[in-house]
Order: sequence, then C-alpha cells, then structure tokens
Amino acid sequence: MRTNQYLRNLNRVEFIITYACSGRCKHCSQGDHPDVGEVIDAEAAVKALREAAQNYSIKSIMTFGGEPLIYADRVYPIHKAASELNIPKRQLITNGFFSRDEENIRRAAHSLADCGVNDLLLSVDAFHEESIPMSYVKLFARALVEEGVPTRLSPAWLVSAEADNPYNTRTRELLFEFTSLGLPVGEGNVIFPKGKALKYLAEYIDPNAKDPYEDDPADIRSISIEPDNTLMGKSILDNDIMKILSRYTPC
Ligand code: SF4
Repeated sequence: MRTNQYLRNLNRVEFIITYACSGRCKHCSQGDHPDVGEVIDAEAAVKALREAAQNYSIKSIMTFGGEPLIYADRVYPIHKAASELNIPKRQLITNGFFSRDEENIRRAAHSLADCGVNDLLLSVDAFHEESIPMSYVKLFARALVEEGVPTRLSPAWLVSAEADNPYNTRTRELLFEFTSLGLPVGEGNVIFPKGKALKYLAEYIDPNAKDPYEDDPADIRSISIEPDNTLMGKSILDNDIMKILSRYTPC
C-alpha cells in the first residue's frame, strides 16, 4: 500500500512522547515547556508503528520530548514493539532528570534495557545544567552503565563543537565528569536559530542557519507523531496511519 511518491524513502518514525519537561533550557528549539502536558497514547503509537513497518522499510525509531521519561510507561511499549519488529536502531533522547528517587531511577534504567533501547542519547551540557540537577542525571547515567544500555552523551554546542565561549568551556568540563563514568561522547548538535535560542543566544547564532532536522517536503524520510496523537495534522486515534500517509502532499 505504498502509494505516495513523496514518502518513497520513508525509513524512520519518531514519537514525541510529551512536550512537558523537567528542564527550562535557554537554548531549547521548542520554546517554553509545561511541567505536565499532553502525552502520547502508547497503544495507538504501537499500532501505528506496526502498520508503518509492514509497509515501509523502517530502519530507526526515536522517542523524545520534552522529557519523555516523565511518562516512561509510554516509552517502554513503543521500544518493545520496535524490538519485536526488528527495527535496527531504537533511540531515546532524555535529559536524564525525571525522578529524585534512586529506586525509580534504577528501575527506569532496567526497563530501558529490557525494552530494547539501543542508542540512548543523554543530554549533558552547560545549558541543561542551568535548570537540571546533574547529581540525578549522574545517578541515572551510572544505572544505565550497570544495566548495559548503549548510551552516548549528547551535548549542545554553541557556534560549533570547537568554538571557544563560556558555554562550551563548561560543557567540556561536564563531559569530562560523565566520561569518567564510562560513557562515550556523541556528536551532539550545534544550536540553531529556533525557539528560545533566538531570544537568549542571538548574539552567538547565525540567524540564517538552517534547521538541521527539516526534511525535504517532497522526499519525507522521517515522520513524527505528536503528544496529541496527531500525524500530519490527523489523529492516529481516528485514522489508520497508512490512510494519513497516503494523503500527504508537500504543500
Ligand atoms: S532542550 Fe530538552 S531538556 Fe531542555 S527544555 Fe528543551 S526539551 Fe527540555
């Protein structure tokens, strides 16, 4: 049922679990976040993933937010389904701060190992540190190492990873603290002009820099299901995902 030419190369499904977040980062491309918020329906998300995987060669999934682990019970079944479907790359982006309870933190790391997350990106940098207590993130990082969850540190760089500025200097110090726990550093991302970054970091940012996450609208490779269960403006609660995809046009 792959009838839409604009989705001929679709190979990735992303799930924005919630826009609620435990962080208040000044570089956040999504803008302001509430403490609690709408949250994706796990059953509908799993059904949509199964149907997409039957019709497209889905190579990767990602769950993120906001902070997805505030609603960890929605994250686990999506990854479990992706594992059962043999989708090779199963990513989660988290800031690592979703609980102050050590037992909860350890349990979450265990469940993430159990459900098959195989590329966990842990946001660690000077921007996250401003609103997130790193002691809890370190507890979580240690638990991930103990549980064997493949994890990379994922810093946000200002201007570039090589640039010298006070934020990058602090980020390098933090990364040093975390790598001593045994975690590698991934490439992270360079902050681009969107959301709060435009307001608080304008002096550092090229206003014409492109959003690195935007697809060519005529060659969509990745789709995102929103916390309100919509995809391309239509609800996956009321519509079959393949019907939604078949109706997509670039304009
Ligand atoms: S950058 Fe991530 S952790 Fe920070 S406010 Fe935005 S979504 Fe939350």
